[in-house]
Amino acid sequence: MILRSLCSPLRFSTVCALLVTAACSGKGEPVGPDDSAAGAATQDILTTDLALDLGALTGRATLVVRPGAGKVTLDVAGLTLSRVTVDGTEVAADVVDGNLSVAAPGSVDTVTVVVDYAFPTRTPAQFDGWMPLLGVSFIWPYYCSNLFPCNPALEDGVTFTMNVVGVDPALTAVFPTNTYGDGPAYMAAVAVGDYTKLDLGTTTAGTALHAWYLPEGSGLEDARAGTAHLVGAFDYFEQTYGPYAFGPDAGTVEVDWGSDSWGGMEHHPYFHVAKFDFDDEEAQVHEAAHGWFGDGVRVACWEDFVLSEGTTTYIAAHALEHVDGPNEWSYYVDDFLTPICQGHSGDPTLVNTIVLPDETCNEIDFENDALWSLAPYMKGACFYEEVADLIGEDVVDDAIREFYAAHVGKAARMQDMIDVIESKASPSDKAAIEGLITEWLRTLECPQDYANRCRTHQR
Ligand SMILES: [Zn+2]
Repeated sequence: MILRSLCSPLRFSTVCALLVTAACSGKGEPVGPDDSAAGAATQDILTTDLALDLGALTGRATLVVRPGAGKVTLDVAGLTLSRVTVDGTEVAADVVDGNLSVAAPGSVDTVTVVVDYAFPTRTPAQFDGWMPLLGVSFIWPYYCSNLFPCNPALEDGVTFTMNVVGVDPALTAVFPTNTYGDGPAYMAAVAVGDYTKLDLGTTTAGTALHAWYLPEGSGLEDARAGTAHLVGAFDYFEQTYGPYAFGPDAGTVEVDWGSDSWGGMEHHPYFHVAKFDFDDEEAQVHEAAHGWFGDGVRVACWEDFVLSEGTTTYIAAHALEHVDGPNEWSYYVDDFLTPICQGHSGDPTLVNTIVLPDETCNEIDFENDALWSLAPYMKGACFYEEVADLIGEDVVDDAIREFYAAHVGKAARMQDMIDVIESKASPSDKAAIEGLITEWLRTLECPQDYANRCRTHQR
């Protein structure tokens, strides 16, 4: 996702609703993540078919699950269940602490759990489920159970199929009928609006890209401006890092997030970009890049957030440079990195923090932690940029490709990426990389001369 900073009135400064939501507005009590929840360590949700009726506010989720410890446990905290079956046999829909737990026959490899349920509407202030006022769903980082039975844990990737009905016939619902590959639970989404679909072209690998834009404002003009290099950048990702994991068709969907419609969210294959940023190439390519990192390779722990956002921020700027798009480095440095490093912007999205606190895994309170800020995006991107200055951007690309091939469809840690990068380096360069890890990822204070070092390519 992209966060924007809160305080400045300019376009790049406003943060998306998300931090506002988390920091200020509180949440409905019955719906929310439950740490005890969903899933014994060995449980694995393989596929989830979602049939949503946005008019009736009901759903049927059909999950194929490899049980853990003889049962299937699903987070259903926000839902009202009406019927549950396991391999066709109705079972009691007993929910304890927001979790549905059903026995699964021990002799089978997978079971099919079908849950019929009602889901709540959520307000733009809550921003954690289906928001009819905005015509968009949003369940990041762990609010999937406000929309469907799920396991919000990052290690459990899932392939979705979807169908959506109950939509005003004058409007269009944009959602993937199939995500083809495993992504995080929060990847699933639907957007409903008066959309016009624009064909953007097809990549060398054959992925067809589209943009869905809204009629308000200068929709077509914004769509063309924001996606000017999107096919080229997407092609760069496919050719450089490896095949796109989420099917033959992808694209960007303009969404209305209300007064804070900045940034975007990696709902692959149809990622969302908020309306005030829909003309912004960096926002568009950033969300596309999450198809490789964040969604394609999931972070194993919230403490590894930099693996998603730092990598994505780097490869977005890197790809745009390669396809003769805009150079984003001064934007990153002047608008985000410098206020982060100066440390007194008063803006919670521009707080400085250590961006790789990976001595723990999923122990931080992520939504209320300083890690949920722009620091991992920018210090992470600068780390990669400086490694590229040292060993060459092509070598860094090789490492990223190797890492992606090893981990696509799975969860991984930033240290796994670091290990691959260091495997490409000479002993003296490896020592220098260790220095950059210390400076950019494991130290609170920004490195000496951070702005020039991050902005300037030594190549
Ligand atoms: Zn992002």
